Amino acid sequence: MGRGFTCISKNGKCTLIYQRFPCRKRESTVLNLREEIKKRINTLSQLRLDLLPGPFQQVHGHPRRVAVLKFNGSITYARHLIGWQQPQTIDKSQIRHNDILFLVPVSGAKSRLLAGTIRKIVTMPETIHDTVILGTGCAGLTAAIYAARANLKPLVIEGHEPGGQLSITTLVENFPGWPEGIQGPELIDNMRKQGSRFGAEFKMGHLSSADLSKRPIVLQVGKETIHARTLIIASGASARWLGLPSEQALIGHGVSSCATCDGFFFSGKEIAVVGGGDSAMEEALFLTRFATKVTLLHRREHFRASKIMLDRAIAHSKIAFRTNTTIEEVLGVEEKEVKGVRLKDTITGAESTLDISGLFLGIGHEPNAKMFDGQIDLDEDGYIKTHDYVFTRVPGVFACGDVQDRRYRQAITAAGSGCMAALEVEKYLEEHGR
Ligand code: NAP
Repeated sequence: MGRGFTCISKNGKCTLIYQRFPCRKRESTVLNLREEIKKRINTLSQLRLDLLPGPFQQVHGHPRRVAVLKFNGSITYARHLIGWQQPQTIDKSQIRHNDILFLVPVSGAKSRLLAGTIRKIVTMPETIHDTVILGTGCAGLTAAIYAARANLKPLVIEGHEPGGQLSITTLVENFPGWPEGIQGPELIDNMRKQGSRFGAEFKMGHLSSADLSKRPIVLQVGKETIHARTLIIASGASARWLGLPSEQALIGHGVSSCATCDGFFFSGKEIAVVGGGDSAMEEALFLTRFATKVTLLHRREHFRASKIMLDRAIAHSKIAFRTNTTIEEVLGVEEKEVKGVRLKDTITGAESTLDISGLFLGIGHEPNAKMFDGQIDLDEDGYIKTHDYVFTRVPGVFACGDVQDRRYRQAITAAGSGCMAALEVEKYLEEHGR
């Protein structure tokens, strides 16, 4: 037995024995640790500890530098117990609740380091999820299906836009497998059921902060702290706004970014849609069901929309186009309802007013990745930068779907990348332990 903490194996279990302080100079630090331990157990010699699983030792090669205590059902991880030579890469995600080792046969010089470098005792959480998936759009749900089928019991966090963009769309005609098309919400609902069937757990909540540097990863969702070995970020992208004060003031009072949600309220009225992409065309076409006239306002002459969508909109008798036009102000702030828009011709500079009762935004989306800024790489527009499809620069953290894809942004590509992320999680956990 060396000095300090020693581990003696007894029928596969260990008993921790405290012998004597290794270094008088730093005695107070050791005493603090001792007091901490004492708070939890009465007699140190009664402390029973299990051995860590083999893979942990194989991966790191220095099991003696790892100090993880378990007593009375709670796990404590003593960081830097043997000093600064300890690899920074100790991966707590490999420690299972019931597979805990305390193996620190310190002696001589190491004992002195022990006294000087004990900094804090961190209580390990009781529940560590193998994987947490952030987002329930096409990417997140596909990741959930794959992870659940791999028996990883994913916890899927549903934010303030459950189902993502598909849940606020209408007919999806290009998702393979539905020759007649399928309603977006129905497609999402099916995916969700498929994930649940294999054991995915869903939780409503807003991610307020995340610490991706810790292992397990720490996520603050509402008042709850969630711990995960791996994270799949599939938080998608949210509707973009023009940013005009008058527009912001009238959100919910005639200004909307969701035609399928709010179109019904504009039955028999004249409205406008802003944008020149597929979203704008889709919204305009959908809104013709309710509105008497839909004016499509676009800031350029040319459209980003696919030909088929543009042609449909052009062919529709209720849709009128105004190109090279920007919105300067939404009118009706005082009345608290949209009365019209003040427009500007970008070529002539001429201003005009269009009387409408509703304004729908179809100008694209912002990636929901701000909460990870500084921890993973984001591009200039805030999209998560990934390499090899779904890898972020943080090991064990993957991103998929619209939050990292500014090029394709299709339901089927989001689903594909969700699948990739889940497969990579599986591989990561195999390599690093669960
Ligand atoms: P998008 O293709 O990026 O188009 C956004 C449009 O909004 C552009 O025309 C852009 O104008 C305009 N815009 C952006 N910011 C603006 C601002 N501040 N003021 C005025 N106009 C502004 O976005 P999207 O239409 O949402 O489409 C995204 C992706 O989803 C695309 O790949 C699309 O094909 C796909 N999608 C497919 C379907 C479908 O197949 N059913 C439906 C919806 C979306 P500029 O052109 O001048 O930049």
